[in-house]
Amino acid sequence: MTTTLDAAGRRALIETAAAAVIARADELTALDQAIGDGDHGLNMKRGFEAVLADLDAIAAKPLPEGLKQIGTTMVMKVGGASGPLYGTLFLQLGKSLAELAPDAVPSRAALAAALEAAIVAVKARGKSEVGQKTLLDVLAPVQAALADGADAAALTARAHEAAAATVPMKAIRGRASFLGDRSIGHMDPGARSSEILISALAGMAAGDHGAAA
Ligand code: ADP
Ligand code: MG
Repeated sequence: MTTTLDAAGRRALIETAAAAVIARADELTALDQAIGDGDHGLNMKRGFEAVLADLDAIAAKPLPEGLKQIGTTMVMKVGGASGPLYGTLFLQLGKSLAELAPDAVPSRAALAAALEAAIVAVKARGKSEVGQKTLLDVLAPVQAALADGADAAALTARAHEAAAATVPMKAIRGRASFLGDRSIGHMDPGARSSEILISALAGMAAGDHGAAA
């Protein structure tokens, strides 16, 4: 892993994450058709296309500022429940990494602390907790694995298992909760989009440019 993250590196990270989500928009839509209103893929695609439209400006900024701009774009463009939630996630990641030296790669400890703070912010925004069949059910176990020293492959595996583990859960938050027990047996769309993002970013950190499984 490199020790600097310059504009070109930031650009590659953003492009990789955006491409992974956009490539799976149909799958996310299908998941949301089963237990929601079928817009999660389109919502996420719209958000990341808006991020790509500002790619040069975002990549030119230091990582914390770029993350905040991504968060603002998500809030404005994604819509649905997931827009404010992903928006909050990226905004808080940016705020938590504010002390990062220009072009520095955040340490594992800094990233784990930033993700922890971002999860707290998402929980507050969504009035939600782990175990309610949402994106938190992927973000929280991945944060724990990151704090425990997991490498990129282990983080990807953890994200994959965690998304799969939402299948037998009953939704307690979001539209899927309207279905009650009928939400059981389907993967949560937001959990899957979080898995896709994490796998793409972990793959890049490991120098593997292949995206999520
Ligand atoms: P909407 O539900 O408004 O159509 P999306 O389909 O884009 O929005 O996003 C749905 C996803 O958002 C869900 O799969 C779930 O992961 C996440 N979600 C919804 N409500 C909450 C909440 N209160 N807390 C955490 N995550 C939530
Ligand atoms: Mg939806």
